[in-house]
Parts: sequence; structure tokens; C-alpha cells
Amino acid sequence: MNKIALITGATAGIGEATAVLLAQNKYNLILTGRRKERLDLIKEKITKQTSSKVTLLQFDIRSSKETKNAINSLPKPWLNIDVLINNAGLAAGFSTIQEGTIDDWERMIDTNIKGLLYITRLISPIMIKNGTGHIVNLSSIAGKETYPLGNVYCATKHAVQSVTKGMRIDLLKHGIKVSSVSPGAVNTEFAVVRFSGDTERAKQVYEGFTPLQAQDVAETILFVITRPIHVNIDDILVMPTDQAFSRDFNKKP
Ligand code: NAP
Repeated sequence: MNKIALITGATAGIGEATAVLLAQNKYNLILTGRRKERLDLIKEKITKQTSSKVTLLQFDIRSSKETKNAINSLPKPWLNIDVLINNAGLAAGFSTIQEGTIDDWERMIDTNIKGLLYITRLISPIMIKNGTGHIVNLSSIAGKETYPLGNVYCATKHAVQSVTKGMRIDLLKHGIKVSSVSPGAVNTEFAVVRFSGDTERAKQVYEGFTPLQAQDVAETILFVITRPIHVNIDDILVMPTDQAFSRDFNKKP
């Protein structure tokens, strides 16, 4: 029987690439995000290419109520989630603390920390009841280092690292695996979102070096979730060859 994976933030970037790769590897998928038309397109693409079953949940993960209603709307067989990939997240803005925008801070904290917690609170008891499960949290190099003008985004990803360790302790006796995947720079919609749709500025982020592609991170996630039952990957830091730490890039003119 196919395993079921729930991927948050599957409408773009890493989440979308992971959805396609997992479908190719015989997972049935619950895909979530706010953009309904994107969810529909991805479902169509996957069901054309593979025999995997896909169900869609459109909601804003910043709302505990919307998250709860969405999970409660799943038909019973879909609730037996084997893998939860907590991927939905964003950076908003790039500024000093003294000039930061409070709305940006709230968006990042509400999505990257609180959203991850809301859905994990709903899915982890199901995994405990089933006696099996794997939770993969998308962290970042920003969860290990703090870079200039990245104060609050880096804080949210440090929180993801910490909560991943806490989850691992809490779920240890239940046999639930908990992992984090921490990428360096990945060329997705991330920078466009960070710079509020300024595509020119976003393009500059990836200029002069070869960043990771969403597919690279998807392959890492697939590796993490397909280890033997007795092996847990606690954390993987996956970087572009052209990037050392968060600030050092091998940029060519
Ligand atoms: P992306 O292309 O912008 O995709 C982000 C996804 O998150 C989208 O599917 C988006 O869906 C979803 N999302 C954002 N806010 C949401 C909300 N309030 N409710 C529900 N879904 C929401 O970015 P990405 O690079 O793939 O990022 C995925 C994860 O990787 C994030 O956690 C990010 O922090 C992490 N990461 C990225 C990089 C990088 O360089 N790109 C590096 C390290 C870590 P909707 O807009 O449709 O809701």
C-alpha cells in the first residue's frame, strides 16, 4: 500500500518539487497551500504522470482554526498520514531591527513557527495512535547562523531547529522519527516573496553563482524519509557548492 505524505506549502518551490518526486516514488499526497489554482495544476500534473492519489487542502497555515478545519475535512483513510513535511514558510523583508516592519515579523513568526506547530499538534497524535510516522521540518542555514538584515527570519529558523529537537524527545517513545532539512540558497519564489514581488532584486540574489534547485532539496527529503526503520537523519545541511556558510559565495563576475 502507498504511504501518505502531507506536504505544506506545495504550491511552489521545494514543496512542489517534493510533491512530484514523492508521487514518482509511490506516495499518495495531501498537498496544502493558499493558492487554489496552483494546487489544482499540481494535482493535474501529478495525476497525469503517476498513479499516485492526490488530495488538496487550501488554507492559511497562520490560522489555527483554518488548519484544524482543513485537517478535520479529510476523509478518514487520508488521516493515516505517514510523513508530515512542514515546508510552508517565507522570509519577508531584509532590514535592521531598528527599521524592521512589524507586519513582516508577524508573517514570518506566524507562518514559520506557529503554522508549523499548529499542524504538528494535529498530526502527531494520529501518528502516535498509528505507532508510526515521520515529521520533516524545513529549517535553513539561517537556523544555524544569523546573517546581516536577516534577524527575524533567522530567529524563526533557529526556532524550527529547537522545536525539531523538542519534538524528537517528545515523540521518541512512540517511535516517531523527527528530522530537519536545512538548505542554503535555493532558487525558488523565496526571494520574490522576501522582496514583495520585486523580481529584479530577487534575481540578483542568485546572480554569479549556482544555487541549489528545488529538486536538490526534494531529493534530500526523499533520502531522509526512505532510510531503514532503525535509522533517523536528525538534520541535513545541504548547501550549494558555491556557498560556504550563510554569507560566503563563490560569485563570478
Ligand atoms: P516558495 O517557493 O516561496 O514556496 C513557499 C511555499 O510556502 C508556497 O507553497 C506557499 O504557498 C507556502 N506558504 C507560505 N505562506 C503560507 C501560509 N500562510 N499558509 C500556507 N502556505 C504558505 O519558497 P521555498 O524556497 O520553496 O520555501 C520552502 C521552505 O524552505 C520555507 O520554509 C523556507 O523558509 C525554506 N528554505 C528556503 C530556502 C531558499 O533559499 N529558497 C533556503 C532554506 C530554507 P501559498 O503562497 O500558495 O500559500
